[in-house]
Amino acid sequence: MTALRDDFRLYIDGAFVTGGASFESLDPSTGQPWAVMPAATADDVNRAVEAAHRAFEAPEWANLTATARGKLLTRLGDLVAAHAQELAELETRDTGKIIRETRAQIGYVGEYYRYFGGLADKVEGSHLPVDKPDMEAWLRREPIGVVAALVPWNSQLFLSAVKLGPALAAGCTVVLKASEEGPAPLLAFARLVHEAGFPPGVVNIITGFGEECGKTLTAHKLVSRVAFTGGPATARHVVRNTAENLAFTTLELGGKSPVLVFADADLESAANAVVAGIFAASGQSCVAGSRLFVEESVREKLLAILIGKARRIRIGDPQDPATEMGPLSTARQLAHIEQVIAASLAAGATLITGGQRAEGFDAGNYYAPTILACAGNEVPCAAEELFGPVLSVISFEGEADALAKANDSPFGLAAGVFTRDLTRAHRLIRKLRAGIVWVNTYRAVSPIVPFGGYGLSGLGREGGAESIRDYTRTKSVWLRT
Ligand code: NAD
Repeated sequence: MTALRDDFRLYIDGAFVTGGASFESLDPSTGQPWAVMPAATADDVNRAVEAAHRAFEAPEWANLTATARGKLLTRLGDLVAAHAQELAELETRDTGKIIRETRAQIGYVGEYYRYFGGLADKVEGSHLPVDKPDMEAWLRREPIGVVAALVPWNSQLFLSAVKLGPALAAGCTVVLKASEEGPAPLLAFARLVHEAGFPPGVVNIITGFGEECGKTLTAHKLVSRVAFTGGPATARHVVRNTAENLAFTTLELGGKSPVLVFADADLESAANAVVAGIFAASGQSCVAGSRLFVEESVREKLLAILIGKARRIRIGDPQDPATEMGPLSTARQLAHIEQVIAASLAAGATLITGGQRAEGFDAGNYYAPTILACAGNEVPCAAEELFGPVLSVISFEGEADALAKANDSPFGLAAGVFTRDLTRAHRLIRKLRAGIVWVNTYRAVSPIVPFGGYGLSGLGREGGAESIRDYTRTKSVWLRT
């Protein structure tokens, strides 16, 4: 047996350190351990937050100009781009997400840091024209303080860029907690943060378990801002934790995103988007288009195209650039999907394709691309966020029926609409309960466009210029002249 890799470290106060605990990380394509990861205990978390608090006040950071902070972020973006292949391979190894996808997504990550670097010197205060001739009043915009950033296992580099980017541009300091499932890419990214030249303590990167590391971090009295991405159940814990410090909190949570395909749509292009929407990342994506609503008159035609595409997906080794779908991240996740599919069939769903572990894999967490027909949103596979390659298909008759069915979910992250009738698209854009609406496309992202959900999908927005405001607070100043 080859020795486990053991060179991953926590990054606290500018130094690479072992944590008070450790755990073995499994390779999802084999189910076998491949590395020993450090795990931050409560003591490690306290040290990281205290370092961030000291760094926030220290002249090396507090007196740095916004332009200089922007240059550091731009340098970090360049370093991410230069190390993209290495980071992508690590993310693929530790999470099972295929190399094609990790490589493409890390391409964006560099862009996000450069985008926020460019915004650092555009965070402006304002003059307030008060009705008092002997007074001047204005608003200063100041960094909010120490930020606790927490990310889930999927897309960790990407999801941390939308937190670190605006936080550092605003002048905050950060303790970033990588998920305990697949922390390798973020622990490796810490070396790039170090190389970029941020002063010690400005960025601290740790990993560890939710109950100890996550809880200590989000409840810490020196934390002023929590930026969390993960599941709604964990978010409730986070909100309870912040009852201690009353930190300003944003939550990016799960989804059960609807994709509406009308009879007048370009069905081939809609089918491509539906397949990419649900089977990319093996469905383990917050914006996965997991509920397909199709107009009854084109149901059979669209399903025939979808079945062909789903069955042709190349499943395999996530490190192989030819692979189109890899394993699920954990065996626990695979078992959960099996259980929900069984419950959905018992509740009357009809299996169209898949519905079992992928054939030809003795090891690893491989599940076949699966399509189920459901009578309505109450069937378990259509109701629950599965985080797996499972598409629930529901038919509709006309626009009002489509809208009512699409909105019938406590989630509201994203929605897709496929139609050639743009007046109809506009009516739906107005009425869909979702933080993102994609029309005749699905999954487009950009650092310029905010991201976030309605309802149980979250609170607040990430990305875009306005997101920097959530890392600042205003100070109102009065001056008698
Ligand atoms: P998760 O909620 O289990 O974990 C997220 C993070 O919270 C991890 O770092 C975990 O260690 C930490 N955590 C766990 N318990 C905690 C506690 N008690 N206190 C503080 N922190 C704690 O999420 P996951 O299973 O890793 O990821 C999947 C979920 O993330 C899905 O619901 C998915 O939709 C969501 N997600 C949302 C977005 C978005 O932008 N909206 C993006 C990606 C993933």
